[in-house]
Formats: sequence, C-alpha cells, structure tokens
Amino acid sequence: MPSIRATTLGNELMFDLLIAARSFGYSSDRAMQALKEIPDLRVDKPSHAIAFTESEMCDLVPGKDAVVVGTDKVTKTVIARADRLKVISKHGVGVDNVDVAAATEAGILVTNLPGFNDSAVADMTFGMILTLVRGICLASSQVKNGNWNKLLAHDVWGKTLGVIGTGNIGQEVIRRARAFDMEVLAYDALPDEGAAKSAGYTYTALDELIANADVITVHVPLTEKTRGLIGEHQIEQMKPTACLVNTSRGGIVDEGALVAALKENRIAGAAVDVYETTFPQRQEVYECENLIVTPHIAAYTYETLESMDMAVVDAYREIVRGDIPTGVNILNPEIGALR
Ligand code: NAD
Repeated sequence: MPSIRATTLGNELMFDLLIAARSFGYSSDRAMQALKEIPDLRVDKPSHAIAFTESEMCDLVPGKDAVVVGTDKVTKTVIARADRLKVISKHGVGVDNVDVAAATEAGILVTNLPGFNDSAVADMTFGMILTLVRGICLASSQVKNGNWNKLLAHDVWGKTLGVIGTGNIGQEVIRRARAFDMEVLAYDALPDEGAAKSAGYTYTALDELIANADVITVHVPLTEKTRGLIGEHQIEQMKPTACLVNTSRGGIVDEGALVAALKENRIAGAAVDVYETTFPQRQEVYECENLIVTPHIAAYTYETLESMDMAVVDAYREIVRGDIPTGVNILNPEIGALR
C-alpha cells in the first residue's frame, strides 16, 4: 500500500481527483475554478449524461487518488480496481451506491454531506404534496389541451401526513407540515420522542401510519432493511384517497406495485423523484395521469448545489495536504489517516 498522499510523475507530485458526480459544478463554475487553484491537485471531470455504471467506474478509477460521486456506482469490484484510491466523497447524502464496508476494508475514507440538502428536498417534497393533492399538474395540462375542466381536489390544510424516516429531511418536512396544521404520524427505526414532543408529531407503527395517512412521504435511506419497505401489501392498506411521495430512493417503494395501484385508481396519486433505474423501465410510469415524475432533482437548487460544491472544495484543500477533512461527515472514522 502506498503511504504517500500523491503520486510522483517525473518531478511532479500530484493528487489525482476524479469528479464523477454530475451535480458537482452543475450550478456554477466557482467550485471547479477553486479546485484548480489547489496546489498539487489535478482534476478530471468526464462529461456524461447519466450516472457511471460499475464497469465505467472500473475503467475510470485506476490511477485516481480520490473520487467525488453522485449516484455513480462504487461497488466492491470498482474498489478492487482502484489501485491508489484514498477518499470517496459523496456529493450528497445517500450512500447506497457506495460499498462503504469494502472501502473501509481497503483503507479508503468515505465522506458524505448530511444536512446540506434538507431544505431543498423538504421544499420539493412539500411542493409535490400540494401539487398532487390539489391536482395542479393535471389541471395545468388539461387547460393547455383546451380543457377548462373545474378539477375538484382535497384540502392539504389540516389533513394527516405520514412521514417514514424522521432524520434530517423528515424533520424538515414535518416543520412544513405542521405549518399547514397537518397532523403528523411518523415511523422510524430510531424514534426521537423529544423531537416529536417539541414539533408536535406522533410515532406509530408503520401499518397504522399507512392506514391513517392522507399523504405518505418516504425519507429513509436505501438499505437491505428498507428495500421494498413500501410494497404491494402496504400500498393496499392505504386509503383510496391517499397519495404517496417518494423523494428518498427508488427500491424503497415497489415501483411495480405502485404503478399497478395507480393504474387501477386504488390510491389517489403519487409523486416520485427517484426510481429503480435512471429512466424508469415501466411504460406505465409515463402513462399514469395520477403520477408526477421528476428526474432526481429534489436537491437541485442553486443554493444547495453551491454549498455542497464548496464543502467538497474545502475538504480537498485538507485532503491534498494529507489531512482528514473536517467540514464533511466521515462514514468510516476508523480510517484514522489517509493512506
Ligand atoms: P438521515 O440519515 O438524516 O435520516 C434517515 C432516517 O431514516 C433516520 O432517522 C433513520 O433512523 C431512519 N431509518 C434508517 N433505516 C430505517 C429503517 N430500516 N426503518 C425505519 N427507519 C429507518 O438522512 P436524510 O438526510 O434525512 O436523507 C434520507 C434519504 O433521502 C437519504 O438516504 C437519501 O437516500 C435521500 N435523499 C434523496 C435526495 C434526492 O435528491 N431525491 C436528496 C437527499 C437525500
């Protein structure tokens, strides 16, 4: 294992950084410019339309000292191909695309940015709730198609919201819901009763939440425990007037069961920002009138992307010097030093 922080190329001592995350530098050039000003850092940012696959990452990581990823795959196979990798930086929160255990075993530091995108994702989630319940997208497309249909909807104000996952984003969604006088039922593997008391919401069993909520919103990470958490059975237990919002990860909600329920009008509607695959494969996703779809943009605001960008830049000022970064979250603190 090399113990130096950068690689000697002729007389050069360079630290090679791969930026795989398309979200990095997407809102402005400021972060790329700032990276270029860090001494001894060489940056490679290949352009690509969708997240890099495992095999693409296998081709890209050899010779790199660090990588900044979005939803690009960093599997055990990719890590095995990474001959010099010291750091994997997630430009976001969810690390379901990174094999953190394999990285730890290989002595590679893994970081992410919890708390940076809570407000953006919560705003998007609440926007989806209002849009869905009030039929805003549907009414808009009807008017544009020459149909002056007076679409009748339900109230959001005072209704019951079920929040699955009360971490950083879930808490921000709850704040917005309470401002709309909504009753909030919550479910989490680690309930925070103190937060529930002060914010005025109630933890329940998952089944109870699903059966009683007018809108359900999902904010857990994708793990082996949460994969399929909202499946056919759970969707069947929802009220026929209820809506489902998923801005968390595809795979937590069973996409097939969801589109089947929407197609048969067994639930009122759904809004989804995240899918099992980048372009959902099921044709029904493109056909269901009661399904709102967005292309994984819940965190895409200028303010949020800029603050995540600059946190990564600050981290690399430290990393290139051989220091453990301080302004980002370290997922495997047992890695005490960069190799
Ligand atoms: P967080 O870690 O602060 O909160 C996650 C919560 O889920 C925690 O309270 C945790 O206890 C709970 N949880 C974990 N496993 C559980 C289980 N098996 N059952 C019940 N509860 C469980 O994370 P966050 O910042 O709130 O983000 C949540 C997720 O949102 C991320 O993991 C990411 O996948 C997703 N996300 C999506 C976007 C987007 O662009 N659409 C942006 C940011 C985050």
